[in-house]
Amino acid sequence: MNPVDIPSVTPLDQILPDEPLLLMGAGPVPVPAKVAAANTVVINHLGSTMARILDQVKSMARYVFQTRSEHIMGVAGPGSAAMEMAITNLVWPGTKVLSINNGFFSGRLAEMAERVGGDVTRVQVPDCSDIDPDELKKLFSKQSFDVLTLVQGETSNTVWNRQLAQVCQLAKQHNTLVVVDAVCTLSTMPLDMDQWEVDAIITGGQKGLSSIPGVSLIAFSQAAWQRIESRTEPMPHWCLDARLARQFWHQKGYHYTAPVSGLLALHEALRLICEESLQGRILRHKRCSSALQNAIESMGLDLYVPKQARLPSVIGIELPADVNGPQLLEHISTVHRVEIAGSFGPNIVRIGQMGEQCRSHHLFRTVHALGASMQTLGAKVDVPAGVAELERSLNHH
Ligand SMILES: *Cc1c(COP(=O)(O)O)cnc(C)c1O
Repeated sequence: MNPVDIPSVTPLDQILPDEPLLLMGAGPVPVPAKVAAANTVVINHLGSTMARILDQVKSMARYVFQTRSEHIMGVAGPGSAAMEMAITNLVWPGTKVLSINNGFFSGRLAEMAERVGGDVTRVQVPDCSDIDPDELKKLFSKQSFDVLTLVQGETSNTVWNRQLAQVCQLAKQHNTLVVVDAVCTLSTMPLDMDQWEVDAIITGGQKGLSSIPGVSLIAFSQAAWQRIESRTEPMPHWCLDARLARQFWHQKGYHYTAPVSGLLALHEALRLICEESLQGRILRHKRCSSALQNAIESMGLDLYVPKQARLPSVIGIELPADVNGPQLLEHISTVHRVEIAGSFGPNIVRIGQMGEQCRSHHLFRTVHALGASMQTLGAKVDVPAGVAELERSLNHH
């Protein structure tokens, strides 16, 4: 056999752009300088310094989730790993799961539940609309469920389940635990874990929180934790076993080597939220997102989802008939150094409004880049009207 030769590789500084592109897609989002700096540090994952940092991460996470629950944990892995941690610990063969399906990510929760043997009933929500609690009422009157899963915001098609609090209330009346995916929405809009009686909330690092990808957070309610503790079925995942994760997160013990740099970055991201306050941050998101929506419409483009069900954290924009999506993304990136996202289905492009994306200087650059690129590719858009509306909306919020 021939030996494997040393490959010829190009150093990163010759691959990466001199100046980072502006990440205005559906995640990852730009990170503040303090988050980036924290992410360069490696420390002992079991020492007293780490213990102190973990205590702060937990208490800041409690604030961001709006919960007094003890059961807060981080996960080394993407948002999907946190989704899988919630599902795998609460669902086992025969568990009756009601899964509200708005699209790609909510569908993933259902698939995860099926993979661990859950008996899953899917409620398909029509495209461009949010879940109607009355429809759930009918289902609950006929059947009982152990666990209900849903997304607060469906990033893939930009739909917002606005009635989340009512859905939780209904589930509680029927003794059903509620798992909420808040990957793109946490800290961008209200979500009160204790008040709404949510049993598990999942978030990733790279969206609403404006931290790095690959380190995620999860919170379980006391009721969810009781179910986890009472489990007698074998737990198929070792890394995602919440009872093992508790050794690291709550007992200063070893589970697996923690992603220390990512946890330091998460610490900084959470600290910046505390500094700004949740209320201030949610207001900033509201102001920026609605100004962006107004600007896009004033340019002559259409938003994909009607206002009632429209997610503010990720905006879906319909492509004019004569504009090709991939060509638009390529043009806006190479010419304007702005990255926006395509989609997994509908003929739309998506612009994120999560964390650091909600800054007025980023919005001016993005609105101009989008309009100018559309124009170059042959669409009739009024770029100055869009920019003027952005200015007006930001000032009048
Ligand atoms: C991005 C996203 C996920 C998945 O997060 P990853 O970090 O890509 O695994 C899950 N749910 C929602 C709502 C998301 O926006």
